[in-house]
Amino acid sequence: MKAVVFEKSVRVEERGEPLPAPGDALVRPLLVGIASPDLAVIAGRVAFSGVLGHEFVGTVERVEADAAERKRWEGKRVVGTPWIPCAACELCSRGLSAQCQERRVLGLHRRDGCFADRFTIPAANLVEIPKAVSDEAAVFAGVIGGAVHAARIARFEGKPYVTVLGDGPTALITAQVLAKLNASVRVLGTNPEKFSLCEKWGIRHRPVSEVGKRRDQDVVVDCTGAAEGLELAMQLARPRGTVIARSAPAPVPLTGLVNSVKGVDLSPAVCNELHVVGAGAGSIRDGVEALARGAVDVASLISRKFRLGEAVEAIAWAKRPEALRVVMG
Ligand SMILES: [Zn+2]
Repeated sequence: MKAVVFEKSVRVEERGEPLPAPGDALVRPLLVGIASPDLAVIAGRVAFSGVLGHEFVGTVERVEADAAERKRWEGKRVVGTPWIPCAACELCSRGLSAQCQERRVLGLHRRDGCFADRFTIPAANLVEIPKAVSDEAAVFAGVIGGAVHAARIARFEGKPYVTVLGDGPTALITAQVLAKLNASVRVLGTNPEKFSLCEKWGIRHRPVSEVGKRRDQDVVVDCTGAAEGLELAMQLARPRGTVIARSAPAPVPLTGLVNSVKGVDLSPAVCNELHVVGAGAGSIRDGVEALARGAVDVASLISRKFRLGEAVEAIAWAKRPEALRVVMG
């Protein structure tokens, strides 16, 4: 089978099919997305080598489990949570498995990913997709789950003024989710081709360069993945306001994208007594439910579609500033 492998550089190679361990499903991807954590691996900011990819929609071909589990999953169209907790450590036993320090993450940490003709994932990580939700929408389920999670962390009261920094899929989806919560939302981006999509959702948007730092926003959500973004977020928030950092959109344990927020000036957080809080990955099931309800529009968020064998070209495309999500399938 074909697999997209990163080892100092990206290449497409032939490999044997992976064997599912007990409890694992063997999945045939229908569509996979190239997201910022994948680009972080390729740029050398996350230490990983192996098959890339953590965002997928696929069909379950086989499950290494009893007859009931096989009947439950085989032939089903699914998405899945990419991180695999150890289920044995103290954090896991306290219900903090999303923060498990021993977890593996598809295509990002100690586990081969989904950019291949077949890959394995624990069946427990899977969520079935309703028929009404297309592959092109379902591929965003994880990003939407993260946005729902960030909205819960924000704990809105009244009708708050909210700024979302960034203009990638994470920012645009987060803005849509927050705009449904009686919030006055604006998006500040750098690429008009991307952030002007906000018009069709009735969300205000401006180039970030045109905005004064008036410290008047109740909540600022940083989706830029850059140190400058988090610093700007702290300059836009009102005293005792909330800054939500979504800079590490994928669950990379211990190392990884955390490096990208090195050297942030935290003095506004102290002087203005800001509530600065991280929002990691949410529940992919929340994302599937939001899509099934039609609560989020992702129709314009796919910039280009390539075949798996064209991965090198697809990744080059995904690095372009004007690219939203590039998919393969
Ligand atoms: Zn654990």
